[in-house]
Amino acid sequence: MATNETLMQYFHWDYPADGTLWGEMARNAPDLARAGVTALWLPSPCKAREGYSDVGYGVYDLWDLGEFDQKESVRTKYGTRVELEGAIAAAHAASLRIYLDVILNHKAGADATDAVLATPVSQDNRTIEIGPPREIDAWTSFTFPGRGDVYSSFKWDWSHFDAVDYDQRTSAREIFRLRDKVFETPVDPERGNFDYLMFADLDMSNAGVRTELNRWAEWLVRTLNIDGFRLDAVKHIRFSFFNEWLDAVRGAFPDRNLFAVGEYFSGNLATLEWFIEQTGQRLSLFDFPLYFNLRAASESSGNFDMRNLLNDTLLARSPTLAATFIDNHDTYRERTIQDWFKPLAYALILLREGGQPCVFYPDYYGAPGRPSHRQILDQLLQARRDHAYGPQTDYFDHPDVVGWTRSGDAEHPRAIAVLLSDGPGGSKRMNANRPNRNFTDATGNVSGAITTGADGWGEFRCNGGSVSVWVEQ
Ligand code: CA
Repeated sequence: MATNETLMQYFHWDYPADGTLWGEMARNAPDLARAGVTALWLPSPCKAREGYSDVGYGVYDLWDLGEFDQKESVRTKYGTRVELEGAIAAAHAASLRIYLDVILNHKAGADATDAVLATPVSQDNRTIEIGPPREIDAWTSFTFPGRGDVYSSFKWDWSHFDAVDYDQRTSAREIFRLRDKVFETPVDPERGNFDYLMFADLDMSNAGVRTELNRWAEWLVRTLNIDGFRLDAVKHIRFSFFNEWLDAVRGAFPDRNLFAVGEYFSGNLATLEWFIEQTGQRLSLFDFPLYFNLRAASESSGNFDMRNLLNDTLLARSPTLAATFIDNHDTYRERTIQDWFKPLAYALILLREGGQPCVFYPDYYGAPGRPSHRQILDQLLQARRDHAYGPQTDYFDHPDVVGWTRSGDAEHPRAIAVLLSDGPGGSKRMNANRPNRNFTDATGNVSGAITTGADGWGEFRCNGGSVSVWVEQ
């Protein structure tokens, strides 16, 4: 029977741009594996527009993993390709799987402009033209003078893109649909058609583009020996693209069981389910509906109705495809889940059946102005690795205090009972399926033991605004 999988997002927006992340990851990999982490989500290693300071989302050259002198440096924000390969080897030696962030929606930092006829469209509704076609100078010419033809001789020009948002000739900032291009479908329907997000938007209906991206994916897996992908901005790319791209790369590596999780930034469960249906369950999705529920609970000062915590979430509806998380590099910059609630939220994603949980780097290691939650996370990770198995019984039956039990399995025989409250502390009778056994709180938040009755039920407790993880002794 397999050990529970736990992902860590191994970067954040404000990580220092000093080229040390790969080296740090190599050093930390054994400790993370011991703590119960089984896979790492790494940032995009590709050379990006702002060179050594770019987080990675303004991707310039997919084939430059910190190897060529482009954008004023050889290394990326995180180090060189050699350091990246060393870090992946160290992670693999510690039995960690590696999922790489992949940005296929757009390219940024072109080497030159192309003069091309373009039609401005409305920011708010991209199906509406707001002016006549005119010639613009679009930043769409990617010739990679620093890399030349190494690994790929493909050069990009305007014909490989749908749209840009800047005309160098007039300095106009508008969304320009290029010449006879049409926005792809289906994509997210927000703003009429949300194909365009930023920078130069790839045209996935162009066969040359698709071939190049397939070739790159195979090279990437072969070169870096990775185990899967975190796909950026999937709601802005025609959904059918992922079927083709994933089938191609998985087909090239039939024995690797390549994992894929998409970032479909939407709290609308029906929309996410539509994407899952369109992509034939080929990729997991981050559970943004759950994230928004957790954030609302954290911001409700104890007045959130905890019975509704799992309502309309992927975790509840598509648990095998739900990639659950508490914060990420984007939410980190805006509105994170409040710190008091993070132990509760992490207990929820780490100790329940279903969902592939992700621990966010700053929550574990801390960051400037952000407290580390490592102590409770180590306890929860251990509980997840050792005890969160077997049948689950839910008690989401009270506005403040909710909980569940897990009955264990053959390899992990101890039962657990988890109780959490966003309001005052309290207790709840739950069936642990273990008659006359003692349970203690692995978090240490509540001291002493709780003994189940002859019927296997116990009266489990937790403190106010807190979580307790009762483990059978
Ligand atoms: Ca797009």
